Amino acid sequence: MPAAPIYSRYIAQKAANSPPRCNRPGPASVPSVTATSSPFDPADIGVIGGSGFYSLLDDADAVAASTPYGDPSAPVTVGRLGGRRVAFLPRHGTDHRYAPHVVPYRANMWALRSVGVRQVVSLSAVGSLRADLGPGALVLPDQIVDRTHGRDHTLFDAGKGVVHATFADPYCARGRAAARAAARDAGADLVDGGALVVINGPRFSTRAESLEYQHNGWSIIGMTAMPEAGLARELALCYTTLALVTDLDAGVEAGEGVTHSEVLEQFAANLPRLRELLVATVERLPAEQGDCECGTTYAAASPPFDLP
Ligand SMILES: [Zn+2]
Repeated sequence: MPAAPIYSRYIAQKAANSPPRCNRPGPASVPSVTATSSPFDPADIGVIGGSGFYSLLDDADAVAASTPYGDPSAPVTVGRLGGRRVAFLPRHGTDHRYAPHVVPYRANMWALRSVGVRQVVSLSAVGSLRADLGPGALVLPDQIVDRTHGRDHTLFDAGKGVVHATFADPYCARGRAAARAAARDAGADLVDGGALVVINGPRFSTRAESLEYQHNGWSIIGMTAMPEAGLARELALCYTTLALVTDLDAGVEAGEGVTHSEVLEQFAANLPRLRELLVATVERLPAEQGDCECGTTYAAASPPFDLP
């Protein structure tokens, strides 16, 4: 069986064991969603995740969003979540067709901004590089290490010129504060901070790679945060990640390393907690991006393209 990302493997397994609704592509197969090409109320908040979060949007409309980079993973759906207007996009597609290295990240982020999104919350299943962060831990990373390659990682293609985006702090301070407040109010454990190393995948780490990441002091490991976070900054979007630990990475695990079954089991067991934290975080996000630093990418120099 070909390797697949943790998250989409879970979803694919879920789909195989669930009513046919989950196993068909496209939002048209979900009764609560209607496709629309008519004007709609824009959504300031975007959520990137998998189909497991789809049902959280009430009265969702599928919005056609064309981009210079082709189609996003799936049609963007816009509805209500936590009392807010939210646009949702499943990173790997509604039928889970995109492995981490081939997700259309540029189209996804462009599409979200084009429907009004300025604040993004991304959800991610991750491995742990620390024995004290076991399966089920919820983590709010504050740093990223990019070990991906071969991905379309920037909007500045050849001949377009460039603006070098500040990226010292890849995550939004206000979004992270909202997540912390959400966890505190709910009495939920949320590990505040930690570096997320992003590997290319779709295979998992070798034991030696995993030990190197631990040696460097990094906390969690995933396959999708880059180029997603970098593109968010190039699009002047706020970006916050809520990560759920599903497994211990190969160098931490004393046994055989990451297994498919433990990932599935942990994700299923903890999905409701991640959902609750997501909703509570969305409720506490600022009314709008306002003067958040994430939105100042082009304060000193105009982009060589029109932002959507
Ligand atoms: Zn921000």
